[in-house]
Amino acid sequence: MVYQSSSYYKSVQLADDFYCYIWQGRGNNCNSCLFTNVLRGERPHVIVDPGHITNELGEACFDYLVKAMEEDGFKVDDIGLVINTHSHPDHCQANEAVIERSQAWVTLSKEEDEFRNTLGEKMHSVLGVKVPQFKPLFHLKEGNLSLGTKNKVELQVFHTPGHSPGSVCFYWLDNKILLTGDVVFYGSIGRTDFLGGSLSLLKRSIDRLSQLDVEYLVPGHNTEFGSIVEGRANVARNFQAAKLIL
Ligand SMILES: [Zn+2]
Repeated sequence: MVYQSSSYYKSVQLADDFYCYIWQGRGNNCNSCLFTNVLRGERPHVIVDPGHITNELGEACFDYLVKAMEEDGFKVDDIGLVINTHSHPDHCQANEAVIERSQAWVTLSKEEDEFRNTLGEKMHSVLGVKVPQFKPLFHLKEGNLSLGTKNKVELQVFHTPGHSPGSVCFYWLDNKILLTGDVVFYGSIGRTDFLGGSLSLLKRSIDRLSQLDVEYLVPGHNTEFGSIVEGRANVARNFQAAKLIL
């Protein structure tokens, strides 16, 4: 198979040791983010939302992600931790594939873990979609999440329900980077018509995120307007637009 990873993922480095893999394929898949060389030990990388293994159009998303990371000098085998913003398969189906290669640990919020094992599982079985199998090492909680020795990466975790009951967003104050999962996108907001969605909760979540000082808003998916929202003024405008839609 010939990989043309550059046409499937655009790699964007936003900080030392931080890369965004922006999905460029035709079918559905999420953007992934990689904190490189943060954890102690042999598997130092941390990935947020590895995405689909294969999507509805048969695009080999995970193989392309592996290749795109390799082009930047990073191996999936060296991932020690997988973090999920939420449990929809287009964000966490490839957890299994990462675990298979690296025995990485997984984390997501308690609310989302409970949801995926109850209503989420029912929804997937009705739709005929395989539920991704993994067991989290610990649950993400609202507040600080320190990664690596000497707290190399200090993230603030925000519980931001609305698209999914246990969705979380991550704010990296040092670099003013906000990872929004499927809560807010470039010029758009997350769907609330899935099981467990709530427009009023999404509104409250977006209100909270809009208070942060953000230079780069990295969403879970691209829209017709773009992917990463860059610059404080543009991020503020994007939140204004999101609130208009709500
Ligand atoms: Zn989702």
